Amino acid sequence: MKEFNVPFRILMGPGPSNVDPRVLRAMSQTMLSHLDPVFIRVMDDVQDGLRQVFRTRSPITLPISGTGTAGMEAAMVNMIEPGDTVLVCTAGYFADRMAEIAERAGGRVQRLEAPWGRVFEADQVRKAVDRHRPKVVAFVHVETSTGVSQPIEPLAEVLNRDDIITIMDCVASLAGEPIDVEGNGLDFVYSGSQKCLSCPPGLAPITLSEKAIRRLSTRTAPVQSWYLDLAMLRKYWSEVRVYHHTAPISLNYALREALRIIEEETLPRLYARHRLNHEALVRGLEAMGLQMFVGKEARAWTVNTVKVPEGIDDQTVRTALLERHGIEIVGGLGALKGQVWRIGLMGYSSNRNNVLLLLGALEEILTELGCPSADGVQAASRVYREAELADSGRVSAFSEEKPVRVG
Ligand SMILES: *Cc1c(COP(=O)(O)O)cnc(C)c1O
Repeated sequence: MKEFNVPFRILMGPGPSNVDPRVLRAMSQTMLSHLDPVFIRVMDDVQDGLRQVFRTRSPITLPISGTGTAGMEAAMVNMIEPGDTVLVCTAGYFADRMAEIAERAGGRVQRLEAPWGRVFEADQVRKAVDRHRPKVVAFVHVETSTGVSQPIEPLAEVLNRDDIITIMDCVASLAGEPIDVEGNGLDFVYSGSQKCLSCPPGLAPITLSEKAIRRLSTRTAPVQSWYLDLAMLRKYWSEVRVYHHTAPISLNYALREALRIIEEETLPRLYARHRLNHEALVRGLEAMGLQMFVGKEARAWTVNTVKVPEGIDDQTVRTALLERHGIEIVGGLGALKGQVWRIGLMGYSSNRNNVLLLLGALEEILTELGCPSADGVQAASRVYREAELADSGRVSAFSEEKPVRVG
């Protein structure tokens, strides 16, 4: 076998995102055992960092060994007992996956459906809750198949009741869009390492509220999955340190470094960056005459869905982007196959260079394919320029308001 040299790619699909070189360096450090006191400090740091991004103080905040779907499965098998009614708000591929796993966990699943590309209204959810009296309600924050960001607060207000466990998927939004787990009273929230956290795939951060922890301890049947049983996993991730399975050591080094980078940037700036790059991309795409799939109010900052223009072959464009420019964007999933492109701007991949490069490359390719496109780069640049002006405006306003007193 020959040496494998990985080509450099600009990852602008719905995950994985590019990994910060600092994270790759952290990963290449020497192996420790999963009970080494030094590794245990790494675990503590990872948990503290995750509490910051989830905004919670919950003792059960940890990375499950597995990808985002393992987080999803952990939520379902730990929170559902056979026969429980589970309401799943489905308006996309990943919500459907939630419903399927909930069914396999023995839940009696009721689907509340909304058209793909739309959000759920509080009233709609309230009615479904009154009708079905579910023990568990699950929804997706950023639905990666459609590019919709579901507003959390209105649903949280309806669902914040003693008799309901709320599960939220934020695989494509944790550390990309504002999330306040404790403030919104969410009970079981899970994510994945390879999207906005900019780590390699393989870890699924989760956090449980007090109510969810109570639910764990009052189960009548043991969790069907041994590997994902939080009653056991929590013992490895707390002071007891009972061996459960060998943690993916290097991935935990990676996550620790990624969380350290987030701490340095600070959450407000991280959110502002994701928002700005999203706005610049959208302005650029629209200036090129392309249409977004999702209405302005409901667009995610992390996953952008844009309609494939009439007469253009989705795959031809994506192949040209990849082969010529090393840029990956991804096509539609399920019902949206061939209809949209999904452009991720997550974590390390959410930056100005990527936005401008993609717009320029798309202009070139679409023009060659007889769909003349221009002005995308300029329009996006204007968004950055405006943001810089607004920013400097804020700084001077602040200094006028609070003059520095000398002496
Ligand atoms: C990517 C994704 C998942 C699945 O994560 P994997 O890491 O691929 O297992 C689940 N939900 C959402 C919203 C996602 O974007």
